[in-house]
Amino acid sequence: MSAYSKDSISHTTSQSAFEGNDEEIRKFKFFCDNARDGNIIIKRDGRILYVNKAQCAMMGYTEEEYLQLNALDIDENYDMKRFQELFDYAQHTPLPPFETQNRKKDGTLFPVEVSITVLPFGGELLLFGVARDISQRKMAEEELQQSKSQLEIILKNIADGITVQDNTGKIIYANQAAAIASGYASVEELLNAPLLEYVQKFDMTDENGQPFSPADLPGRRAMQGEENPQVIIKFVHKQTHEVRWAIIKSTAIFDAMHKPYLVINAVQDITRLKELEQRKDQFISMASHELKTPVTSLKVYTQLLLKRFTKEGIKEVVTYLSRMDTQIDKLTKLIQELLDVSKAQVGKLEYAEERVAIDTLVHETAETVQQGSTRHTLVLHGESRATVIGDAERLGQVLINLMDNAIKYSPHSHTVDITITQLQDVVRIGVRDYGIGIPQEHQEKLFERFYRVSNSKDRTFPGLGIGLYIAHEIVMRHRGTIWVESKEGEGSTFCVSLPLYKE
Ligand code: ADP
Repeated sequence: MSAYSKDSISHTTSQSAFEGNDEEIRKFKFFCDNARDGNIIIKRDGRILYVNKAQCAMMGYTEEEYLQLNALDIDENYDMKRFQELFDYAQHTPLPPFETQNRKKDGTLFPVEVSITVLPFGGELLLFGVARDISQRKMAEEELQQSKSQLEIILKNIADGITVQDNTGKIIYANQAAAIASGYASVEELLNAPLLEYVQKFDMTDENGQPFSPADLPGRRAMQGEENPQVIIKFVHKQTHEVRWAIIKSTAIFDAMHKPYLVINAVQDITRLKELEQRKDQFISMASHELKTPVTSLKVYTQLLLKRFTKEGIKEVVTYLSRMDTQIDKLTKLIQELLDVSKAQVGKLEYAEERVAIDTLVHETAETVQQGSTRHTLVLHGESRATVIGDAERLGQVLINLMDNAIKYSPHSHTVDITITQLQDVVRIGVRDYGIGIPQEHQEKLFERFYRVSNSKDRTFPGLGIGLYIAHEIVMRHRGTIWVESKEGEGSTFCVSLPLYKE
């Protein structure tokens, strides 16, 4: 039996409000009984006139049990006085939904959200309530709040700066480390600062000492769709001249339309690391300078002695001195490489700008390298008649390095193929060996400073891991490209491509 019938009303209230309104009541009940929210009608003294099925299910009572209760028996927050105040207030003023706590038949207390309206009905005022169990929502809110607090603590305490930017570039979140790194005393100060103000506080340069434009900041690039961009920037504070190095990595967060709408930037301070690196670079530069002078003298005296003993025809001594001379040349080459790497690091390798005939350069270089090798034959293929603009000596240094490596890393083969190919806008020189090859995972890193492939099963090859780094620097300065194609155990082809000089 439904509670809101003429019968039930007549035994709960002396003034039945519904007589003669059967059709309206039927519709009303139909809507209420199919509603997902609880519906309840209460008199000013708390007596309950009607509850729908959802309300009964939520509270665990049958309809009959429910109608015997007083609304205040099941609500934890309202006594008669407070309830009537609310009732009277709601007669005149529409109330927004509010939260209260109800107790189920089994005693469980749970939060409900309630919307109420007090309306005259059949000559008296009645409270119409709509109630919803919000325990799930509350729990989710609590969990969210908890994880937010945890995240807040983590972000506050990590050494890295974290900022979040919206799609206009405005910083909408920053932790303390980010505020300090951006030159502000507090997070609030940073958040209230005008857009990009923090960038204007610093002179920014990249690792090569070139000015760094704010347009290239990874946050902006991530917003434009680049995947996880990162940069290393040197920040010099314009007023205090304090130097800081930072690595900035950015990640975009996408909306339902797959468009980035937020960017998270992680800023790691690497000043200390950079200082150590600079100290190491300075040491290498100084040490190679110091080594250069005595080795040059050694070379001069060795040559003097060679001349004299050759003249005197003392063969045995000449042989030893020649070997010494070769070793001194090797030493000189190593020292020169170390000097070059220090210079390249600070962008100070000098380059001439002259016309370089590629065929001649490749032939002469191959000839020089051939003289130092009895085991390998360097075989030249193709010609180009190409001319490029650049530094013949530096480009020769690149080729010597590739040919020397081809010989060094193919101890069990006898041929190195050198190919010159002229394409539309570039000339390409390939140096192919049939040696140990390079595993895929190392190939991209070979051109990094001091990178060497460590390979326990092969014998160790002498070297410093500098040659390819310098070769890469030189080729880049000639606006060319250098790359490797290789398969482990089958040999490698190193290629250099340079833009052609056109009259
Ligand atoms: P180095 O030869 O002095 O170690 P490089 O910079 O010239 O330094 O080369 C870097 C590394 O690349 C080498 O240590 C070697 O592992 C690898 N490599 C270079 N050329 C070859 C090649 N032709 N075949 C196999 N590995 C090579």
